Amino acid sequence: MSSILQPIAEGVIRIDLQFHGRPQVIAAYLLYDGREAALVETGPTSTAEKLLASVQAAGVPLEALRHLIVTHIHLDHAGASGFLAQRMPWAKVYVHPVGAPHLADPTRLIASAARIYGDLLEPLWGKVIPVPADRLVVVSDGERLQVAGHTLIAFDTPGHARHHHAFLDETTGLLFTGDIAGVRIPGVRYVRPPTPPPELDLEAWSASIARLRALRASALCLTHFDVHREDIEWHWEDLERRLWDWGHRIRELLEENMEAAEIIQHLRAQADEELRAAGADPELYDVAASYESLVAGYLRYWRKRAASARS
Ligand SMILES: [Zn+2]
Repeated sequence: MSSILQPIAEGVIRIDLQFHGRPQVIAAYLLYDGREAALVETGPTSTAEKLLASVQAAGVPLEALRHLIVTHIHLDHAGASGFLAQRMPWAKVYVHPVGAPHLADPTRLIASAARIYGDLLEPLWGKVIPVPADRLVVVSDGERLQVAGHTLIAFDTPGHARHHHAFLDETTGLLFTGDIAGVRIPGVRYVRPPTPPPELDLEAWSASIARLRALRASALCLTHFDVHREDIEWHWEDLERRLWDWGHRIRELLEENMEAAEIIQHLRAQADEELRAAGADPELYDVAASYESLVAGYLRYWRKRAASARS
């Protein structure tokens, strides 16, 4: 059973944002030391009111919430940052240097999401509001953030996106992984690599996995979804193996001139069967990382690679 608020370590609570009423799709993590609070991930604007209600239900007054830390700027992780900055003029938004300009001016972020979601963009994710530039804190690789009684260390972790950090909580050993540790529903032995366009980079992803594995974190805190402690080594291996297996399979199908729609069907048929065998509801994985976006990411990656090999 999952609940909306789940204490996971001293001073750390996992919040289920109940994305469009669905549990176990998007999480945010609340850090609190009785004096000030921080969030790792804001989720999208469409769940922001629920997020604020959950923070208060956890016994944290909104005036204490001073630090909004995002792993990367995709809308399911940082979409609400502008809305929250407006609602809480005392809060700062912490972001990767590559992502910062796009939170200050989200025009390109919105345009690229609109290419994927079309008219569903706003119903799904809500309005994306700019974060005033003087409210942004640009975080560099290796930087230590002293927030809410915790020390978070930022790790630049490209592969899923170039604007991606994972954060190790030195105080508890928890690792907040954003999307770089994949998508996994609690209790299921299956890790899906979310591989959207346009910045998927398989080599960079493998290097990021190696870097994070070496930290020997006490738990992986996934945005999609929840905390995994028991089988961390297995988790990284399952993720990396599937990342490359799917990559090689999709490249073969591309070389056979298979259309994108057919590749999506092919991957869905195979992967959904594996998921059901692992005891998972395939739809929960699909909401967080759809086959359409996975395949689009791989196709773009291989075409870019082929183009750079020709030049
Ligand atoms: Zn993402």
